[in-house]
Amino acid sequence: MLIGAHALVFTGTFDEQGLRRAIEGTKRAGFDLVEIPLMDVAGFDADLAGRLLRDNELAVTASLGLTADTDLTSEDQAVVAAGERMLERCLDHVAAMGGDVLCGVIYSAMQKYGAPTTERGVANSRAAIARLAEKAAQRGIRLSLEVVNRYESNVFNTGRGALAYLDGAGLDGVSVHLDTYHMNIEESDLFQPVHDVAAAGRLGYVHIGESHRGYLGTGSVDFGAFFRALHDVRYDGPVVFESFSSAVVSAELSNTLGIWRNLWQDSDDLAAHANRFIRDGLHAVRTIDLH
Ligand code: MN
Repeated sequence: MLIGAHALVFTGTFDEQGLRRAIEGTKRAGFDLVEIPLMDVAGFDADLAGRLLRDNELAVTASLGLTADTDLTSEDQAVVAAGERMLERCLDHVAAMGGDVLCGVIYSAMQKYGAPTTERGVANSRAAIARLAEKAAQRGIRLSLEVVNRYESNVFNTGRGALAYLDGAGLDGVSVHLDTYHMNIEESDLFQPVHDVAAAGRLGYVHIGESHRGYLGTGSVDFGAFFRALHDVRYDGPVVFESFSSAVVSAELSNTLGIWRNLWQDSDDLAAHANRFIRDGLHAVRTIDLH
């Protein structure tokens, strides 16, 4: 099991200086892996990132939230095609960095929608994801679709909703990405959805976020139940800490996620605490086997 941190804990920019800050900071905090959001697909230097990752002996994953211009649930085929082209470039970046996962809101735009999905829009999204999953597999990459709350997508907002979306041709290899921040808003509890998604063989990626996206343990997320569930199902995939504050700004991602206030100032202290919190939590639940 690899424990990781989202790069936005350290930087909102992904030039050489930003990449160094994220990769070296993640390593210094004690993590095994860094998740890099590919917000600027055209300007991203994947070879440089790969070199820095190897120098620091860190594993990598990449994530993305699509926008209205690249929304796979659009009824306009030109927009869907633009989204597919962009995600294919992301697959190339992941491969160049030596990663094997592309996750996040890659099946729709990451935004507050003003209306429910349409049947045609969801069909467009599922067909595009099926084609991308094949291209990903050719590069040794897995796609994992993040379940987010109602203000960030309208396609599905629960683990079961994601399973229903994935029930179809060409989607066998695609997994579900659960996030405690979103689960805390939408799910009945943080235990059963882990079991439901894992029982379907679909649990592929996990984000650990507090209810206000700040320090772990200072909000209302029931991490005890979540860690117990991960242990129950013998989850072995990436577990990645996600936190945002106006102390680190990415104009695009911070604004989309509504990060308006400072929940912390010190990235290094936040990350080192999260690394300990996650490892301690997962360590403790392993002893439940002795009870
Ligand atoms: Mn997340």
